[in-house]
Amino acid sequence: MIQLVRGFRDILPQQTPRWRAIEKTAISLFQDFGFKEIRIPILERTELFARSIGEDTDIVEKEMYTFPDRRGELITLRPEATASIVRSYIQHKLYAKDPVQKVYTTGPMFRRERPQKGRYRQFYQIDVEILGIKSAYADTLLIFMLITLLDRLDVSDAQAHINSLGCSACRPGFRAKLSEFISSRADVLCSDCNRRRERNPLRVLDCKVPSCREAMADAPSILDSLCSDCERHFKELTQSLTHLNVSYVIDKRIVRGLDYYTRTIFEIQTGSMGAQNAVVGGGRYDNLVKMLGGPDIPATGFAIGLDRLVEIAGSRLGTEQKQPRVFIAAIGEESIAKAFSWSCSLGLEGVCAELDLSGKSLKALMKRADKLGFEYVVIVGDNELRKRAVILRNMRTKAQDLIPIDGIVENLKKRLTT
Ligand code: AMP
Repeated sequence: MIQLVRGFRDILPQQTPRWRAIEKTAISLFQDFGFKEIRIPILERTELFARSIGEDTDIVEKEMYTFPDRRGELITLRPEATASIVRSYIQHKLYAKDPVQKVYTTGPMFRRERPQKGRYRQFYQIDVEILGIKSAYADTLLIFMLITLLDRLDVSDAQAHINSLGCSACRPGFRAKLSEFISSRADVLCSDCNRRRERNPLRVLDCKVPSCREAMADAPSILDSLCSDCERHFKELTQSLTHLNVSYVIDKRIVRGLDYYTRTIFEIQTGSMGAQNAVVGGGRYDNLVKMLGGPDIPATGFAIGLDRLVEIAGSRLGTEQKQPRVFIAAIGEESIAKAFSWSCSLGLEGVCAELDLSGKSLKALMKRADKLGFEYVVIVGDNELRKRAVILRNMRTKAQDLIPIDGIVENLKKRLTT
């Protein structure tokens, strides 16, 4: 038997209503705030991710699904959506009409991480981006929408964690300070942290190894090294969040794993997720559009991890699956032919009918209807065709009615939908 690839998974019919309900809630909220859908490809040139996410990040270093296509060009299954959205924004000059574009997209992302609970190699994100706004109010709007969404999805313990990564003026100074601090702790930090010390010291701050976390507890905070513009920006963020009654934690440990972030970064964390406790990650990326060859346009955005959101959202979501209302037990070729056309007409009327096409005996058909939990069964055989009336049996009360074949579709619709 061929099994699926490790780290990949199927989302089965009994699970999809919940996924749909959650996606629908999210999308309708984003649309209410003026966001429009964009669809981007699953494959991009490898260079797009290498340049935007950064060569020194875990994603680019070891997690991308990269293949040469038939002509030898390197292509990659997208590990995230922001880079593609920015590529599309530049390629189609979406900024020409209006630099401000508010977009969302949903779909699978691919990272070859070590699979574990809540972590997959194909996972799903809802991605939301605001391009063209420098003000911290755009960041606040994103966090506000997220907190609203999680509230609508009955996630009770969601908490916004915010931080700033500064800009090209103030970050280098902080990096140097941090590097120095890391050197003083080199003997207790893990080998990954020591390796990152030179190339990406900020990543040491979010190492999950307990001894590293302890060693870094009193590391300097970037918030003490921000330039005055970044400081003002961060203050605008915290003040506007407070005005909207959004509670947040300033968390100097969050740095995000991608190189393109500037200033505001945030995560939404929940207590119930253990080590994988971020359900959303996001932040501002003011240099990315320019870096990828577009004009100097700021941007901010987030990605919701849908797999994790489905785990933690309220249990009542997506419980209403459209169930077939009636089972049709048709015996004999002629009855099956008639019943088939009734079931098609019922489908057009929005009344789902399950017609058994196996040709089995009435007893076997009734057994199946019972097993599947149908409340109503239509029984039709030669006898019923001759009398021009079928039997409608209520499986619960065992009551049976005769329904004339003339006008049967309207009649059944009335009986089954009231
Ligand atoms: P990132 O794109 O790394 O900022 O991640 C944003 C969100 O996507 C995270 O907070 C997770 O909820 C989710 N996510 C990232 N990687 C995975 C994965 N391998 N499996 C499941 N969810 C993931």
